[in-house]
Amino acid sequence: MATRKLYYEDAYTRRFTARVLRCDPAGDGWDVELDATAFFPGEGGQTADGGTLDGVPVLDVTERDGAVVHRTAAPLDPGRTVEGVLAWPERFRKMQTHTGEHIVSGLVHARYGFENTGFHLGEDGCTVDFSGELDRAQLDGIEDEANAAIWRDVAVTARFPDPAELAAMEYRSKLELTHDVRIVTIEGVDDCACCAPHVSSTGQIGAVKILDFMRHRGGTRLWMKAGSDALADYRARYRAAAEVSALLYVPQGDIADGTRRLLEQRDGLKRELAGLRRQAAEARAAALAETKGHLLVFFDGDEDALRTLANAGMAKCGGVCAVFSGADGAWRFVMASRTVDMRAFLKENGPALAARGGGQERMVSGRSTASRPALEAFFQG
Ligand SMILES: [Zn+2]
Repeated sequence: MATRKLYYEDAYTRRFTARVLRCDPAGDGWDVELDATAFFPGEGGQTADGGTLDGVPVLDVTERDGAVVHRTAAPLDPGRTVEGVLAWPERFRKMQTHTGEHIVSGLVHARYGFENTGFHLGEDGCTVDFSGELDRAQLDGIEDEANAAIWRDVAVTARFPDPAELAAMEYRSKLELTHDVRIVTIEGVDDCACCAPHVSSTGQIGAVKILDFMRHRGGTRLWMKAGSDALADYRARYRAAAEVSALLYVPQGDIADGTRRLLEQRDGLKRELAGLRRQAAEARAAALAETKGHLLVFFDGDEDALRTLANAGMAKCGGVCAVFSGADGAWRFVMASRTVDMRAFLKENGPALAARGGGQERMVSGRSTASRPALEAFFQG
C-alpha cells in the first residue's frame, strides 16, 4: 500500500505520529511500514534519512511500489501508533546541499546547455557530473551567480503538474517521465524534476562553494559544499591554514610560497648532508690501519658511505672488512674482501652474525640483529 509521504506535504516535518501497518524480520533488523512517514528514502543519488520510531533507530529507508519501508533495529507491533523523529541537522544539511545543487546545475544548463548526468549526496559531501567540460573560470562564474541567487532569497516550491501542463513545460530531467512528475521550481533560476525534500527559500542555503573538479567521461565532475557543510569545511580549512601559517611564520595567504621555500631548504640540506657524509666516510677510510686479519668498522652512514669504507678497508686487510651502521639488534652492514668468497662467508657465518643479506663474490650487504660485543668477539676475538 502506498505510504502517505509527509515529506511532500511539508519538507520541514521533523516529528510525526503514524500507525504501524506491518513489521517483518528482514536482514539486520525489521521492515516496518507506516500509514504515513516523513522519512525520505534513499533515492535519486541522495542517502536515506536517519532518526527513530518510538526511540528505535531507523537504519535505512527504501521505497517499493509507492510504499516506504523503514529498516528498524527492533520490532514495532502492527496497529501501534508510533512517534517518528528525524535526525534533523543531517536532513536539513541535505536539503541545503540538494537545493544548492539544483541552482548550480540549473545555471550550468542555462549558460552552457550541459545536462546533469550524475549526482551523489551522502555524509561525505556532494558530487555532481555534467555532460560537457567546464574550466575553473567558468565554474567561478557559476559559483558567483549561484550565491547571488541564494542571497536574493527566492522561493523554492514543488508540485505535481497535470500531464497537459507538464507537456507544455520546460524543465530539466534525467529521465523521460510521463506521470506523477514532481517539479521543483527555484523562482527565476530553475525548474527540475526531483523527488527530494528542499528548503523553502534559497536564503536558507547560506552559500555554495565549488571545491574541486576534474574531467570525467567526456564531461566534468565537481565537488561542492553548501550551507552548514560549507561552514564546517571552511572552519576545518581555516584551522589547518592557521596551523601551517604559525609553523612557517608566514601570513596565511603565503603558506604555499612558505612551504615551497621550506622544501627547497630541505633539499639543499639533504645535498649538503650527503656531501658531508661522503667526506666523513672518505676521512675514516683514509685513517684505517693495515691489518693481516679481519677489520671491523662501526660507522654511522648511508649505504654509499658503508661501501666507500668497505672498499677502502678490503685493500688494507688480509681477511674481511666488515662495516656496520646502526645500533645493537638493528645493524645495516657491508662486508668485502680481496681473499674470501663473501657469498660463501655470509652463508657460513650468517647464523653467528645474526645476519641476512646477499651480494657478489667480493662484497655483500644486509642487516644483522647481533649485539656490538658479539660482532667484536667474532671479528676481533
Ligand atoms: Zn534534485
